[in-house]
Parts: sequence; structure tokens; C-alpha cells
Amino acid sequence: MLHIENASFAGKKVLVRVDFNVPLNEQYQVSDDTRIRATIPSIQKIIAGGGAVILMSHLGRPKGGPEAKYSLKHIVPVLEHLIGRQVLFAGDCIGETAKHAASNLKSGEILLLENLRFHPEEEKGDVEFARQLSVLGDIYMNDAFGTAHRAHASTAVIAQFFPENKLFGYVMQGEINAIDKVLLQPERPFTAIMGGAKVSSKISIIENVLDKVDHLIIGGGMMFTFVRALGGQTGSSLVEEDRLDLALQLIEMARQKGVQLHIPTDTIAADAFNEKANTQVCAVGNIPDGWMGLDIGPASIAQFSNVITASRTILWNGPMGVFEMEKFSGGTRALGEAIVKATNSGAYSLVGGGDSVAAVNKFGIAEAVSYVSTGGGALLEYMEGIELPGVKAIRG
Ligand code: AMP
Repeated sequence: MLHIENASFAGKKVLVRVDFNVPLNEQYQVSDDTRIRATIPSIQKIIAGGGAVILMSHLGRPKGGPEAKYSLKHIVPVLEHLIGRQVLFAGDCIGETAKHAASNLKSGEILLLENLRFHPEEEKGDVEFARQLSVLGDIYMNDAFGTAHRAHASTAVIAQFFPENKLFGYVMQGEINAIDKVLLQPERPFTAIMGGAKVSSKISIIENVLDKVDHLIIGGGMMFTFVRALGGQTGSSLVEEDRLDLALQLIEMARQKGVQLHIPTDTIAADAFNEKANTQVCAVGNIPDGWMGLDIGPASIAQFSNVITASRTILWNGPMGVFEMEKFSGGTRALGEAIVKATNSGAYSLVGGGDSVAAVNKFGIAEAVSYVSTGGGALLEYMEGIELPGVKAIRG
């Protein structure tokens, strides 16, 4: 594989898989350009190196054929604005239209292809479709981490047609470096913080991180399944009754692996699931009937903050409470602040997974942690220890 920093792009057409699957409003205007913005450094690098850029992406979920609302044409003005250059558009991603546009492309020019998913072969990982895409470029770059867990034609299958000339773009490389730094070479102590609603959706991640961490902090709704499994009174808190045995197994697994498992000792309990609810601080295993724990309590915050600030590597996935409501956001905010403090003292902190990303954005600390992953499903699979097809296709 090549490396973006030292690859030679002069006179080459670089076929780049990007993630332009952005939200559009009713007038088909881009309402959040974060993903487009993220790919600008890779595009600029190719142009600065004397190459031409051919961009390909999916957008939305078209039902097997072209649909106006999912046309990548809607992306063109936003991309032109962000890159400050003209962007050419091809009305299909394969066939004569695409070949003609690609072969006329000169160094420094940018061509955007129409939605890959207008062809069902894309999601099927069809080899012939991948070959037809591959003829458009001399070099293949994958810069779409968000789809790296899919073995689609443009994300993985296509790489076989570029045995030497394939590489990651900056977005993809950044995500891989951040996760590998945490999961493969963590400085110790290494603490993982797992929160969110349900333990059932995080089992594989918890099992995988138990092999790597020194401390595992549990918060969010999932903590009550652990508390109940240990015999606590959890009132009407979120408990997965069918996962009590699993919780006990995870506790035992942590013990066997020498991982210090931190389950909250207190909680902010509420008499209703809303902002106006009455609240009280309770021991987690002593919640009155009709009350539910919606955040971790002050003693837990203090204890967890101490663990976090003494850590050298921190992985955070999932909020500590119902952080969307101000009343129950204190635990998530406080641990976020402890992570920032640790980061300022030289720890490496990776925040990933939908709601923890939303939380760091809400609390304004996204810039103060080491890395915020935009990977979503791809990040979760990577954290589960699954080799992502899009990564394997390039790295081998
Ligand atoms: P997840 O998508 O599994 O990471 O879960 C995130 C959601 O869990 C957020 O919307 C939180 O509001 C919710 N959550 C966190 N703590 C609790 C809790 N104690 N009870 C109910 N929901 C919670």
C-alpha cells in the first residue's frame, strides 16, 4: 500500500471513495457538511501533488435505481464552496458517461460521480461493478471510514484492481491511527468508560476491551442490569431482566482478567422520565419503588473522576445518564471534564460512538479530547475486534 504523505500523485487520476452521505433538507440542500469538510485535506493533497481527483460516494438509501433526491449533484455547490474550485459531475458512476468524464480530466481537476447505490451491485460487492469503477482511476484511495465495515464494491472489493496503488486518505488514516493507538499500544493505566442505554448492545465491545484495559467504568442505563444482577433494588430503572446472567459473567470475566470494574455506587433517581421530575440521590441498590436512576450520583462522579485523571489512555463510549435532559447530564459532563483534565496532563483520549460524540459536542469539549471518532457503526465493529473489510482491503 501507499501512504498519503509520500505517494506520488503527479499526472495520476486518483479514484477516492468518500463518505458524502450527508443529511439534505426538503430543498435537497446539505444541512450538515461535516463529512464533506472532512475530506478536503485529502483532495487538496492530491491536487497539490499534481493529480486529478475522481470522487465516488453513496447518498441515502435509493431503492435499486436513480432517484432525484439522492443525486450527488446536490453536493456539488457545497464542495465547490469548501474547496474553492470548480467540481465537474458525471451523471453515472460507471459506463461511457463516467469513462468519458474521467478520461478528459486534467491534473488539478475534480470530478464527482453519481451515487454508487443507484446500482444495486455496489452493496452486493459485485466484482464486475468494482472493475468498471476501477478503470476510471490509476490509484484507489479510501477516505470513507463510516462505510469501512461494509464489504461493498467501492469500499473493499475494488482494491483488488489496485494491488500496488491503493492507500488510505487522511480521514481513514486518522481514525485507524487513533483506534490502533488505543487498542494496540495503550499507555497504562488504560481506562474504558462504557455507558448508554443497554448492556445488550455493547456486549461484544465490553468483552473485547476487557482483554486490554486496566479499568472499566460502567454507567448509563446499563449499570442497573449489573446492580440488579448483584441483588440490588433498582426501582423502575432500565434493567434488562434477560441479561442478568450476562452481567454476572462480565463481572467474573473482569475479575479473572485482573480488570478493575467500577460500577456506580449512587445515582440521581427521578420519579418520572422528564425534566420536571422530582429527584433524589440514592444508593444504586436502594432505589424506592416507582423511582428510576437517570444519572450517576456525586460519590460515583468523584470516584470515577479520580480513576480517569490517573489514566494515560481513555476510551469513552456512551453517556453516563440521560444527558439530553439538563437534570441528568451532570455525570456525563463531569466525566467529560475529567477526561479533558487527563488529556491536558498528557493522556490520550478517544471518544467514539454516536451519543458520546453528541455529548462532547453539547458540552463544548470536542476540541479538548485527543480524538473524536466519526466512525459510528464502523468504530463500534472495530472496537469489537472485527477486522473491517475496508481496512483489510488496503492494508492486506
Ligand atoms: P446508546 O445509544 O446505547 O449509547 O444509549 C444512549 C442513550 O442512553 C441516551 O439517549 C441516554 O439518554 C440513554 N441513557 C443513559 N442513561 C440512561 C438511564 N440511566 N436510563 C435510561 N436511559 C439512559
